Order: sequence, then structure tokens, then C-alpha cells
Amino acid sequence: MTRSHRRSGEFALIDWIRKRQSPSKRVRVGIGDDAAAIDVTKDSAAIISTDALIDGTHFDTGVHSPRLIGRKALACSLSDMAAMGCEPTVFVAAVALPRSATMGFCKDFCRGLEDMMGEFGVELIGGDVTTGDTPLVVTVTVLGRPKDRPPVKRGGARVGDTVMVTGTLGGSLRGKHLTFAPRVAEGLILNRDFRVRAMIDVSDGLAADLEHVAKESGVRIVLDAERIPISRAAKDAADGDAARGLRHALSDGEDFELAFTLSRTQAKRLEHLQPFDCGVAAIGEVVAGTGVRIRQTDGSLARLSHTGYEHGLSR
Ligand SMILES: [Mg+2]
Repeated sequence: MTRSHRRSGEFALIDWIRKRQSPSKRVRVGIGDDAAAIDVTKDSAAIISTDALIDGTHFDTGVHSPRLIGRKALACSLSDMAAMGCEPTVFVAAVALPRSATMGFCKDFCRGLEDMMGEFGVELIGGDVTTGDTPLVVTVTVLGRPKDRPPVKRGGARVGDTVMVTGTLGGSLRGKHLTFAPRVAEGLILNRDFRVRAMIDVSDGLAADLEHVAKESGVRIVLDAERIPISRAAKDAADGDAARGLRHALSDGEDFELAFTLSRTQAKRLEHLQPFDCGVAAIGEVVAGTGVRIRQTDGSLARLSHTGYEHGLSR
């Protein structure tokens, strides 16, 4: 089974679970977004997101340092908070340790968490440690709050919006997936200074993640192949083959950049101001329809599937 087949099975399960819930009024944002939002009091909300990382899938204890693994465990959850345009405040961590884990390994892992805590001003407030016949599994649940404005959901994209993305994409397995900077500050600025309508962090790959935005918003997203910012790592991985570089940028996971939509006017203002060190680029538009399409340089539309581009989809 390929990774994307597995992922679609996971999404089908989440859909099934979601349909069985009937969220009460206190749930402002429920299942199906980067984080949930609940009422704490009449006029304050808590934002909550959780992520589980498994040895052999999201990191490799045989290769990666425990410190980088700890860093990534927290960074992934912070990225989800960034995608809501909200401020992370505290987190809890549940760790399942294999019997082989040493005290030194665990302390270095905690130092990795601390690296992120210092950088993003978040506090560890509890958790759980268990040992058993298991690979290392780390589950981080981060809590946050809206700062200036309500959380940005995936479902707000409108026909006519411009699609934009921070940073560059692709090839994160070459290192970025462990060392990436969650775009927390960028998410907050986007939510405060721009009318961002829908936002997601790029965890499964740009095309796959924007499928969620398209689905939740009831729109189609058309990406311009020539405007996708391809990372150095993706270009290196593609060995000079431009089409392969683009494919890496569209489908590699774990870039942890922010992809979002906003009106054409707002997008022009953001593109002009360029407020972020990581850069921000317009990469496509929102139209009527469903799904995500890639506009090739010859003008034709293609869909990115797990086997490559599917052509002849111009309608
Ligand atoms: Mg996410």
C-alpha cells in the first residue's frame, strides 16, 4: 500500500467518525480542521490540536537525534496552531517508550521540546510516560487562543480568491521535516493584517492539503505550475528535471508552510508588502467546481494523483 493510499484510508475513517458526531454550540470549530475551537467562557475560546508521531514513519530513531525528534514533535502541533492564525500557549505530551530507551535518550528528547518552547513561548503543563513493547510514539496536544481575530478555518475560500503559500516547497525529507520553523508568527500576522479566508498547513503535500480546503469550502482550486515556489532541496532531488522538481513541490509532505486564500486585492497587497523572511507567493486561484487542478504551462489542466499527472481534465 502506498503512503497516499494509506492516507486516504485514514481520511475515510476520520470522515466516518465526524459524521457520527453532532457538535454542541460550545464547539466553534469541530472535526475537519487543523485545530478545534471551543468556548471557554461566553467571550473566550480555546484552540486545541493533537498530533501523533511514530518511529519509522515520522522520524527514525536509528538515524535522527532524540533532540531533533523532540523538536519535531512539538513543531508539528505548533504548525497546526499557525494554520488557524492563533497563538499557541501550552501543551501536554504523551510518550510511549520502547524498553530500549535510555535516560540519556529521553532527556535529549526533552531538550528538543525545550528548544521549541523557548522559541515559541509555549509551556509544558503535563503529559504521560509509558514503557512497553512499542516503537517510540509521541503524541503532543497543544492549546492556544485566538489573538486578534477568530481562528481561520479551511472552509472559507470563495470563488475569485487568490491562493498563496509561504516559503518554498518539496524535498523536506532531505532535512526540513526535522528542522522546519512552524509559521506561527506568519499565521498571526496573516490573520491580523489580512482578510485570510481559508488556511491550512502543508503536512501531506500542497496538492493533497489544498484538496481539504477545496472540499471544506465547496470550491475548486487551480494552481499555476509555473508559480509554485520549488525549494532548493526539491530541485536537488529532481536532479535538474523541472517537471520532477514541480512534482516534489506539489506532493512531498511535511513542508509545514501555510497555504491560504484571500481576495485578489488583499493578495496583491500581501505580495507587494512581502512581510515575511520566508517569502510568500501567489500560486493559483479559486474557481467554481471541486478538487484541485494544476494549470500546465500550455494552459491545460491536470490533476495530481499518486501515480502522476492525469491529463484531459480541462472541464
Ligand atoms: Mg494541519
